[in-house]
Amino acid sequence: MAQTENIISRPKPFTLMGEHSVRCTGCGDLLPPCSLRCSKDDGLPRAEYIQRRIVPRDLPGIWRFIDWLPVREPLKGTGGGAVSYKSSGLARELGLENLLISFSGYWPEIGATLRGCSFKDLEAAPTMRRLVENGGGIMVVASAGNTARSFAQVANAANLPLVLVVPKESLHRLWAIDGEGPICLVAVEGDYNQAIVLGESISSEEGFQAEGGARNIARRDGMGTVMLEAVLRAGKLPHHYFQAVGSGTGGIAAWEASMRLLADGRFGERLPRLHLAQNLPCAPIHSAWMDLEGPKSTCPRGMYDDVLFNRHPPYAIPGGVAEALQSTNGAVYGVGNEEAKAAEVLFQEAEGIDILPAAAVAVAALIQARRAGRIGDRDHVLLNITGGGISRLKEDFTMNYITNDMTVHHGDSAEAVVAKIREILRGRGICC
Ligand SMILES: *Cc1c(COP(=O)(O)O)cnc(C)c1O
Repeated sequence: MAQTENIISRPKPFTLMGEHSVRCTGCGDLLPPCSLRCSKDDGLPRAEYIQRRIVPRDLPGIWRFIDWLPVREPLKGTGGGAVSYKSSGLARELGLENLLISFSGYWPEIGATLRGCSFKDLEAAPTMRRLVENGGGIMVVASAGNTARSFAQVANAANLPLVLVVPKESLHRLWAIDGEGPICLVAVEGDYNQAIVLGESISSEEGFQAEGGARNIARRDGMGTVMLEAVLRAGKLPHHYFQAVGSGTGGIAAWEASMRLLADGRFGERLPRLHLAQNLPCAPIHSAWMDLEGPKSTCPRGMYDDVLFNRHPPYAIPGGVAEALQSTNGAVYGVGNEEAKAAEVLFQEAEGIDILPAAAVAVAALIQARRAGRIGDRDHVLLNITGGGISRLKEDFTMNYITNDMTVHHGDSAEAVVAKIREILRGRGICC
């Protein structure tokens, strides 16, 4: 394998880090820098970076790729990233000669230090930094778990204010290992979608900012560093990319990063095929792609990992999941709970680290693809292990639950909730 060091060189001194413009993937118009949407159509905003060649900087984690992140400087206190390595254990089990595993989580033995234990940490840091650079405000994040944990982790590390809106059932995922930063946690009696609706009303109030989900270029390009790190390590683009998806944002991000690497010119001539995996039967992207009936109304109940459920993924919009799949000749897999469990056990035994249930769904998809003869023995495969190492983290740190500041009903008036949030934040010395 080519070493990363071979392609490190000095960047031009007169270009700013992360200098870019933002364009609508629908109509192609240039958009104001902070746009989350285009006024004309539904297309995702996308960053176009001045630097065509990616030159890793001498910075930690994701910040090595700051030229392809929409920020001018790293966020202080943060610096983890995805770490890839060539698999021998799982590769042998699957008969693959060129399996690269990208690990986003906590596994210090390979240099992986993400304390939120998932690739949501990769999104949270640039998203928070971008907000600081664009005038600040209080970030509002509605999430069923991993995203909230990652933003909390980053808010702690950088001492930035944050409002988390989380369904009560998901509070068990909200631990942190550092002290508590300026965070206000709102538990919602209701489901994930109801938490999102409440989060949206909070973020529309003066002084608050929505994180924007898939529409935020900082989130997507933060996740895109998985592809950048792996390709710079291997020296070329893989043939196949496997990831478990809920919204599919990570899949879009991998596709966009691949297009930039293709334009760079040094890493190959073909886009990797996207192989996206969902957990059956709550698998809207799978059903849309395979033209099957949509998920039941009981979803996400009974899922192997409900972070993989998103009722309204950015699918059939310009720059969205369907386009990413079409342009990479991609595939979508449906994975049952039994299969996911077996894949999780196999991975842990073969590679020696615990992984999150969502990541096991991607492993199961790779097993399916192998069985179906879709992947050749010598094909280069990148498997994105989107989260893991919680057991490993527990060996090194004490985990504390983030204090729940208030429990509200999803039907409560947003104004009343916002008034309470302001009161709590003021009590913590944050003016708003
Ligand atoms: C969020 C999440 C996913 C799915 O991410 P997308 O946004 O759908 O790309 C996969 N694995 C883990 C661990 C996650 O937290």
